[in-house]
Amino acid sequence: MYVHIFSEIERPEEILWVNEGSPTMQLFELDPHFLVCEKSLQSEIHREVETLVQAQGLKFLCPKCFTRNNGSVGTHAIVCWSRSRGAPDTASPKGGRWRFSGTGFYDLSLDAETFMGASSIALNGGCCWHGYITDGSVIDA
Ligand SMILES: [Zn+2]
Repeated sequence: MYVHIFSEIERPEEILWVNEGSPTMQLFELDPHFLVCEKSLQSEIHREVETLVQAQGLKFLCPKCFTRNNGSVGTHAIVCWSRSRGAPDTASPKGGRWRFSGTGFYDLSLDAETFMGASSIALNGGCCWHGYITDGSVIDA
């Protein structure tokens, strides 16, 4: 019985069906990077850092466009900043700010930074992706 089930899953068309039924992607699939914002009067630099402990922000590839483009080519990035981790309010993109929790990309969650704030990420234009990052998963809203 076990062998029978296994051979069913091994069929490519079965795997395709499973993927269609599950919109969840993992953050680590979307080339994620942690960022800090170095801002002066003249410039704003988004520098990559190694760990969540250091991070003020997160950059990752748009899951909607990644799926539509079948990969990273032509896919734009999304940047989310955390005010409580020291990202300036003037850092681009402005607007949404999130509280980061977890230990790294595999269990990262983005939640509302304030009681009335939004925990979801909504793009104002372009592909208009709207979703959540919860426990390392990227979930469409
Ligand atoms: Zn997109």
